[in-house]
Amino acid sequence: MINYLHKAKIGEKLKVAAYARISKDKTDLESSLESQIKHYTTLISVNPMWEFAGIYADDGISGASIHKRNQFQLMIAKAFAKEIDIILVKSISRFARNCLDALPLIQELRDANVEVFFEKENLSTLDTKNDTYITLYSKFAEEELTSMSNNVNWTIKNKMKSGKFFINAAQIYGFMFDENRNLIINEKEAKWIRVMFEMYADGHNSAEIADLLERNGVKTLTGLDRWSPSSIRKIIRNEKYCGNVLLQKTYSENPLSQRRIINHGEKEQYLIEDAIPTIVSKDLWKRCQGRMNDNASTYKIGHKQCMNLKTAFTGFGFCPYCRNHYFRKFNRKTEMLYCNSNKDRFKCQESESVFIEDLKHIIPKLVKKLKDNESEFRKELIKAFELKEDDSLITEIKQLDTQIANLRRKQEEYANLTGDAFETIKNEIRKQINELSDKKALLENKRLTNLSPETRADSIIKELRKFPDEEVLKDYDFRNLFRQMVVVNRDRLIFVVGSDDVNTIPYNPNAIPMSFIDSYDHKVRSTTTTCYFGIFINK
Ligand SMILES: [Zn+2]
Repeated sequence: MINYLHKAKIGEKLKVAAYARISKDKTDLESSLESQIKHYTTLISVNPMWEFAGIYADDGISGASIHKRNQFQLMIAKAFAKEIDIILVKSISRFARNCLDALPLIQELRDANVEVFFEKENLSTLDTKNDTYITLYSKFAEEELTSMSNNVNWTIKNKMKSGKFFINAAQIYGFMFDENRNLIINEKEAKWIRVMFEMYADGHNSAEIADLLERNGVKTLTGLDRWSPSSIRKIIRNEKYCGNVLLQKTYSENPLSQRRIINHGEKEQYLIEDAIPTIVSKDLWKRCQGRMNDNASTYKIGHKQCMNLKTAFTGFGFCPYCRNHYFRKFNRKTEMLYCNSNKDRFKCQESESVFIEDLKHIIPKLVKKLKDNESEFRKELIKAFELKEDDSLITEIKQLDTQIANLRRKQEEYANLTGDAFETIKNEIRKQINELSDKKALLENKRLTNLSPETRADSIIKELRKFPDEEVLKDYDFRNLFRQMVVVNRDRLIFVVGSDDVNTIPYNPNAIPMSFIDSYDHKVRSTTTTCYFGIFINK
């Protein structure tokens, strides 16, 4: 029984969508998209006040492609465009995984009169009394949620109550679970953790420690032989080894961005002391932090400076020649982007490197250009997004209908015939009908969840308006607006708006249409050259 609060006006139906997480595991039929479509269509169709508005489903893996626009964001955009009134979600955690700071988004949705209903907890976001609970839940679960497995969603609440919380032992070197899922020390690994801390406190550096581990055949958490110095530093930095747990180490900048930002004190952190078994003493741990802080300041790698822009520029550049991404690297003291194919050897000769300093001027300039021509930009977006695939979807659905109808006729013909041979045929027909019906349901859902060109354009305009007016880019997450940057060469940069699917970027670099063109003069030593840049709308 769903106690939703949203009331429709007389004569109107509420558009109800569901948000689901689909499993990559083929044997897990329960969480396949087909079975969830069945579940929710039934649930929604039994309510005469409701109208099915589609199922939005993401697979569990989100970390790998943080800049990808997922179905969740698509659904939220549709909700703000008034195409959805109620969103059904299995549990708070399923929702919160997408926007770890869930409450601001929930409030924004409430203002837009959109209700989110959490089935498991049986609570509606239209009731403000639930806010405290949702906040509490997302706050404490924030860090742990990302590593949480599907089946422990709800136990976390009870663990919170009893002062315990969830830590994924499988993802922390040195820990494991016992048969009762209690966190315990994995002595085989913990032994090496102690070696790492002691060596580091004694003045060895992370590369030397990595070397020692490799020489002793110690495997990493993921079973590799190679230890990177940065993974050693990460271990040394982890407070869990001295028994403490720090919550909210990272946070998300805005509800719709999945990018995690290191918390440098902008948000409250919760330190829970002696929460878990201790591998190294607090004293040793502190000595190592002291050394590491000293090192960080000598190398002047201010965390604050590089963290944001590092994540934003990583993978931002796209090489149209070898179709690889760009990576970020310091060339002496200059921050540059290079084609990934040239990471080890100089294999991609056509690509050119780009100065990040230039981009910090170019991006705000391009934003200004788009802001100055907003209505024209919106028109261009709509024109580009105009759905052609809708027609082909309808044709495909019609074809499936005919096939299903033919099979049904056949089924009737065989209905009165008995005997083993006929039973086999009848079973086969039934199986085929089911398969085709599933296929049809998927296509219909695809049609339903397609974003209209106007809504897509508006959500991009919304991102554009949010962009701060500044001459030089500071640490704004520009990738909500610009998905990729095609580096034709250093003097011709094309910023991709719309989809971040690089497969739909034309293969011939000179054939990529560029609009809203502007220029920027950049200086390399005493020569000044002009860089032309503009946008490409990717459908
Ligand atoms: Zn390349």
